[in-house]
Amino acid sequence: MSGVDTSNNTAKLFIISSVAGGGKSTLIAMLLKKYPFLKFSVSCTTRKPRKGDILGVTYDFITVEEFEKGIDQDEFLEWAKVHDNFYGTPRKYIESAINNNENIILDIDVQGARIVKEKLPNSKSIFILPPSEDVWIQRLIGRGSDDMESIQKRIENGRKELLEKEKFDYQIINDKLEQSFEDLERIIFN
Ligand code: ADP
Ligand code: 5GP
Repeated sequence: MSGVDTSNNTAKLFIISSVAGGGKSTLIAMLLKKYPFLKFSVSCTTRKPRKGDILGVTYDFITVEEFEKGIDQDEFLEWAKVHDNFYGTPRKYIESAINNNENIILDIDVQGARIVKEKLPNSKSIFILPPSEDVWIQRLIGRGSDDMESIQKRIENGRKELLEKEKFDYQIINDKLEQSFEDLERIIFN
């Protein structure tokens, strides 16, 4: 891996978004493994846990009723409906991370990224792009986590999300994984 200097890090909050299958989970997992001091913002979601999900680590899995209560009580910094499920960033967690000067990584969709960037303009937003539509579709299929109907939905949604890419502070074209990871490291530890 690269020899990126991590001592010079001043920015605190990094929003990482991509189309489904763009590679953000892969890159974030690499980042958290290599730099355990980075905090991951654990979102609340109403979707069902999938293989590989760890309760309270990948997500807090809650019911629709609990989520709606959270909205009413203004517990989310932002929330959105993504692919038929609710997802939200707990306000308390972000506030405490900022107060404790922690570096925090958010894995949220394009709608959420826009809201967080508006509310916390000092945050850095990063959009991960697949190198081409063909490669993107192959990766979505190859991941094996979605049926064809869900893949179709993700592609349609993703095409709209790609139109927002210019609004992000940084874009990474995720062709070769090692190179994309280095690009991400450089953004975070520049
Ligand atoms: P996202 O979290 O954005 O939905 P994933 O991280 O799940 O995307 O990546 C989608 C699929 O593509 C996964 O199977 C992952 O292993 C694979 N993948 C991600 N980045 C690359 C890459 N640079 N080269 C080849 N395969 C990749
Ligand atoms: P998945 O269910 O595949 O883990 O995530 C689906 C989508 O929801 C991804 O684009 C992911 O970035 C997004 N997401 C996860 N947590 C949040 C959140 O708290 N807020 C928003 N707006 N999107 C989220």
